[in-house]
Amino acid sequence: MAMKVCNTIRQTREFLRAIHEGGKILGLVPTMGALHEGHLSLIRRCRAECDLAAVSIFVNPTQFGPSEDLDSYPRTLDADSEHCRRLGVDLIFAPTDKEMYPSANLTWINLDKLTEHLCGAARPLHFRGVCTVLAKLFNIIRPDIAYFGQKDAQQLAVLRRMVADLNVPVEIRTCPTIREPDGLALSSRNQYLTADQRRQATCLHRALSWAREMIAAGQTDSAPLIQTMQEIIAASPDVRIDYISIVDNDLLQPLSRVDRPALIALAVFFGNVRLIDNIDITPHTLK
Ligand code: AMP
Repeated sequence: MAMKVCNTIRQTREFLRAIHEGGKILGLVPTMGALHEGHLSLIRRCRAECDLAAVSIFVNPTQFGPSEDLDSYPRTLDADSEHCRRLGVDLIFAPTDKEMYPSANLTWINLDKLTEHLCGAARPLHFRGVCTVLAKLFNIIRPDIAYFGQKDAQQLAVLRRMVADLNVPVEIRTCPTIREPDGLALSSRNQYLTADQRRQATCLHRALSWAREMIAAGQTDSAPLIQTMQEIIAASPDVRIDYISIVDNDLLQPLSRVDRPALIALAVFFGNVRLIDNIDITPHTLK
């Protein structure tokens, strides 16, 4: 089947009508474009596991704060379409802002508790925008399965809870974080880094891996772990740590001891570029 590119909701619904009626399994990979190997790994899995693979490409303005990088966020629709075509994607949904938000949005999805810490604390309206746009995308495309990366661990926890709390008929599947050979997690924002910052940015994965080793060796007090991770990262000249946190895997609340499944998550600025990374600490990942 030739890949269909839809810019409007009406076109998308028309294209998908027969697919929904035919009972085919439809997978969705929501993205903001500027596709890299991280996104492509989600798309490949979606392609392999579903009858039809859809990718949405939308830089969602409601999840950016007023001083964030909405305007400069990379937009590379032609290259993105080419990647999708090559991977056998059936549908790209790439709406304009006006198509998604024809008038000022008044209906929002807010999650308690799960958004109190990590990026929720640093970016107050971010998850409200993420959940609302994903609810809209789920309603427009009505996928059976949607694919997300562990790279955005808080987003995943929040979405899983939203889908459960609101009985959204979609299954959320998690894909592992894809990294550069030196450990840096792939991100559309990596391209903003200077060569020096790019070299320094390996400290994020180094700090997380060090913490994982310490926990595997029995060091479970969070405070000294966080302290040393701060030191590993602060050794780079051009950094500002936004947060380094150890939280439980369920409600994302800070843990003083790593005595249950946990997430170590961090956000660090290199110049103006804010990078996030995390590592899942569950008993089976420590072996
Ligand atoms: P974004 O375009 O940044 O909104 O990301 C779209 C999806 O790709 C999200 O589910 C992300 O978690 C996922 N993603 C981004 N970077 C990576 C990565 N390095 N490895 C795996 N998934 C990723």
